Amino acid sequence: MKALIVEDNLSTRLIIKKTAESEGYEVLEARDGYEGWSIFQKEKDNIYIALLDWMMPEMDGLELCRRIREASVTHYVYILFLTSKRGIEDIVKGLETGGDDYMTKPFARKELVSRIRVASRISVLERKLNDANRKLHILAITDPLTGLLNRRELFRRLEKEICRASREKNHYSLIIIDIDYFKRVNDTLGHTSGDMVLIEISDRLKAALRQYDVIGRYGGEEFLIGVPGAKNESRKKIAERIRASISNKPFKIGDNKLDITISLGLTSAVPAGNKKDMPHILDAMIEKADSALYMAKNEGRNRVIEYGE
Ligand code: GH3
Ligand code: MG
Ligand code: MG
Ligand code: MG
Repeated sequence: MKALIVEDNLSTRLIIKKTAESEGYEVLEARDGYEGWSIFQKEKDNIYIALLDWMMPEMDGLELCRRIREASVTHYVYILFLTSKRGIEDIVKGLETGGDDYMTKPFARKELVSRIRVASRISVLERKLNDANRKLHILAITDPLTGLLNRRELFRRLEKEICRASREKNHYSLIIIDIDYFKRVNDTLGHTSGDMVLIEISDRLKAALRQYDVIGRYGGEEFLIGVPGAKNESRKKIAERIRASISNKPFKIGDNKLDITISLGLTSAVPAGNKKDMPHILDAMIEKADSALYMAKNEGRNRVIEYGE
């Protein structure tokens, strides 16, 4: 964690620097607001506390504080003013501009230490909160068994992608996948082995896709894939590649080797509509992909059928 110290007076700067270092911060020093701002812009993702003198030549601490608050940062920057201003109006102005705390000069080193510790406490709390939020977000959007997007997030992303395709007048393709005779796996090897097959299938599907494709768990043993920009034969090729990624290598589940296959229903469109039309457009596409999947099952499974083919 880095501390930015902006102070035009050399001896004061040195005292603040030593104190911040003794509290475990790596210190970045600046002599005025401009220098402080240019250092901040380069180092903003590492700076957790800014100790700002108020009165400085060129750009003062208040203006620097304002700029720091307007900058986009990955975490909260705790701002502590060190100032000889003591008037209520000034203090209020400093805090309202975005300062978290202030100390009047001259100050006792002991007091500076405890105010820096307050900043450290806030940083630690914020980091814990951010970590917890990240974890919760991942839990909220993924399916716990396979790690793929869950149904809700899958629909949200697909609607977004279809909306983009509509704006750009591009093709968007949808593939529904259903595992063939999956009940047999459960019936012969048990539900846990069935789960292991689902995980392996998810991994293979993910590996077969490109960065901009969307994949999620649509139902128990059904998956939905969204592919942007794939015209004519290319989308069929993509679906064939996905099919082959499952059938071309047996699944090792415990001591068993299983030949697993999937059936795929494909549909494609150049969608047209506004944001509010997207759920309806997506539903209609899913319906078409589903009816193509039904045909793939009927025609013998382990194959790709495109709607309208
Ligand atoms: P088909 O080729 O016609 O698709 O035959 P199928 O046996 O795969 O039939 P269906 O698609 O209807 O099978 C759904 C089966 O998937 C039934 C259910 O027990 C199983 N299943 C659904 N979700 C899970 C899961 O999370 N874990 C396990 N192990 N099995 C699941
Ligand atoms: Mg000064
Ligand atoms: Mg099914
Ligand atoms: Mg099935």
